[in-house]
Amino acid sequence: MLGLHAPALRRCSFRVGAEGDDGSGIQLGMAAGGATLHLGAGSVSLPIHPPKSMSRAVLVNRHGQRFVNEDVYMGRLGDRVLLEQDGIAYLLFDDANFERPAIERDLLAVGESWQEVEAELGLPPGALQATMALYNRHARNEEDPVFHKRPAYLKPLDTPPFAAIDCRVDSSMFAAFTLGGLHTNAWSEVLTPGGETLPGLYAAGRSSSGLAAPGYSSGLSLGDGSFFGRRAGTRAAGRKG
Ligand SMILES: Cc1cc2nc3c(=O)[nH]c(=O)nc-3n(C[C@H](O)[C@H](O)[C@H](O)COP(=O)(O)OP(=O)(O)OC[C@H]3O[C@@H](n4cnc5c(N)ncnc54)[C@H](O)[C@@H]3O)c2cc1C
Repeated sequence: MLGLHAPALRRCSFRVGAEGDDGSGIQLGMAAGGATLHLGAGSVSLPIHPPKSMSRAVLVNRHGQRFVNEDVYMGRLGDRVLLEQDGIAYLLFDDANFERPAIERDLLAVGESWQEVEAELGLPPGALQATMALYNRHARNEEDPVFHKRPAYLKPLDTPPFAAIDCRVDSSMFAAFTLGGLHTNAWSEVLTPGGETLPGLYAAGRSSSGLAAPGYSSGLSLGDGSFFGRRAGTRAAGRKG
């Protein structure tokens, strides 16, 4: 199902799920005539923090350019890197701000200048130097006019040596899970492709396409699972609500 609907997620090394989370609930509903929704949607996390101070680093793509505010929710970070940057990103530090993320990541390059780090990573000549010059210029005033990172995490990265940590999906930890599932109405009744309810068939949690598809935020799984699970149970028991 991943290969068919969400092939990019297969590149993520850590599948967030429990035993039995294999899509069989969705397939069972489909076999009964249920429609599906958002089967290509997923949540991808790139956990660079904790510690939260890791947000002082700069994240660049394979062109040596920033593309996101580094203090953003890790679920947004993973989506951005995997789906918009072909799964390639490097996390950059200077000596004054260097820290290791709680989840182990490899050190890919170390240099006495950003030019050396840029060369070691094989980035286009001059690209990373330009990115860091612009970032540092504004970070000295606790400003990020391009991506609006919070001032608390804006420190100039200008104390050698400089380092790059691996945030590529094919060689470092990314966590993913899917969000699509059976198409249901507000009472968790499964719908047919024509929009009719399938009598007696209910779905909730990750067997359904819930509130989280397509944009996940922590808590939404338990939130919609318990809310719509309760509604399904209430309706199945013959009560109105
Ligand atoms: C490590 C981890 C951390 C998470 N953290 C959060 C969080 O912080 N916030 C949040 O909102 N969500 C979180 N989630 C997600 C959340 O736990 C799940 O989305 C939620 O439990 C899904 O509920 P569910 O009822 O759909 O599926 P499940 O809780 O997986 O329940 C499905 C049940 O069906 C059983 N089953 C499967 N196949 C069959 C079969 N053929 N016959 C009979 N039984 C079967 C399974 O064994 C299982 O008991 C996390 C998940 C994981 C794995």
